[in-house]
Amino acid sequence: MTRVHAYAAPDATTPLQAHVIERRDLKPTDIQIEILYSGVCHSDVHQARSEWGPAIYPLVPGHEIVGRVSAVGGQVSRFKVGDLAGVGCMVDSCQHCDSCAEGLEQYCENGATWTYNSRERDTRLPTHGGYSTAIVVTEGFAVHVPESLDIRAVAPLLCAGITMFSPLNHWKIGKGHKVAIVGLGGLGHMGIKLAVAMGADVTLFTTSQGKADDALRLGAHHVVLSTDRAAMKAARGRFDFIISTVPSGHDLNPYLMTLRRDGQLVIVGALEPVGLSGLPLVGQRRSVAGSNIGGIAETQQMLDFCAEHGIVPEVEMIRMQDINEAYERMLNNDVKYRFVIDMAAYRAEQEQASD
Ligand code: NAP
Ligand code: ZN
Repeated sequence: MTRVHAYAAPDATTPLQAHVIERRDLKPTDIQIEILYSGVCHSDVHQARSEWGPAIYPLVPGHEIVGRVSAVGGQVSRFKVGDLAGVGCMVDSCQHCDSCAEGLEQYCENGATWTYNSRERDTRLPTHGGYSTAIVVTEGFAVHVPESLDIRAVAPLLCAGITMFSPLNHWKIGKGHKVAIVGLGGLGHMGIKLAVAMGADVTLFTTSQGKADDALRLGAHHVVLSTDRAAMKAARGRFDFIISTVPSGHDLNPYLMTLRRDGQLVIVGALEPVGLSGLPLVGQRRSVAGSNIGGIAETQQMLDFCAEHGIVPEVEMIRMQDINEAYERMLNNDVKYRFVIDMAAYRAEQEQASD
């Protein structure tokens, strides 16, 4: 076991604080990654605060992880020491159900092992995420991060990026499609960049008038203020595909009305009940679906797509010690558009302190 510096939530109501965790000894197929950067996802807040049910404490969040491989087990074939590697929301799955066989480990029928707030399959020990200086993971759940992408900005692709790429990819969105993204936060801003790169005509639905210029700068072709009833009415019947990143239960009906016949609305944000009337569905054969991150192969595909198109998130770098303030700012809609923790700097501070 290796002792590793981390930040953890001690319980659902106490702010995150410095903590030491143990990483397992390398198994033959494991790699050890020295974490350089760790993105801050809204899901980290939901789970640190037990908003998705009772969490496992102390809880070390973080599932947007980028670092360099610092050790490899004897049977590792895809990584070598020094490689850039990424870890997203999953670190394991059963590997034999139909979903795993199709590369859809996020839908593992026996339950995927999440990067944190979950339990290792063999030992049942809690998993711990990327707000830490190192992680040990089986090589099958790590991806190669293209060296051409800005390493300081790339981490949020591992969750925000794949969460938006997967539905766009699954529903084969591309040239000729009119797409709308609801909410300009960490997920939403990646949704705009990816859908634009796929060739779609892209609209942002936002509750924040002040974000309109940013949305256009990020590549969106149009912006609709969702609190403006007249603007919502004018958008009726316009879109083929909508992804909602709104983090809590909300009324889907005004958005559904903006879909054309056979259009699809995909929820990736809210896990709570959402307002849903049969009328907009029945009236134009519209449908509502959900989507959860993406499989490992698809995550690699997304990273390669981003390298080909030069896509990286817009990030604000923070110190590990400032994580609680970052959470409050995210909840106050004050993030442009993803916080990334400088774990390399945190490790350097810890090493200096122990000298
Ligand atoms: P975020 O950065 O906080 O962005 C959410 C955006 O939604 C906000 O910037 C805001 O955009 C809009 N919004 C917030 N509250 C709203 C409200 N009450 N009504 C309408 N719009 C509202 O969060 P994120 O990291 O992108 O995550 C979004 C959600 O997706 C979270 O619930 C997270 O847990 C979830 N998530 C799901 C998956 C998955 O695989 N399905 C993966 C990652 C995250 P405007 O100011 O533009 O309105
Ligand atoms: Zn996430």
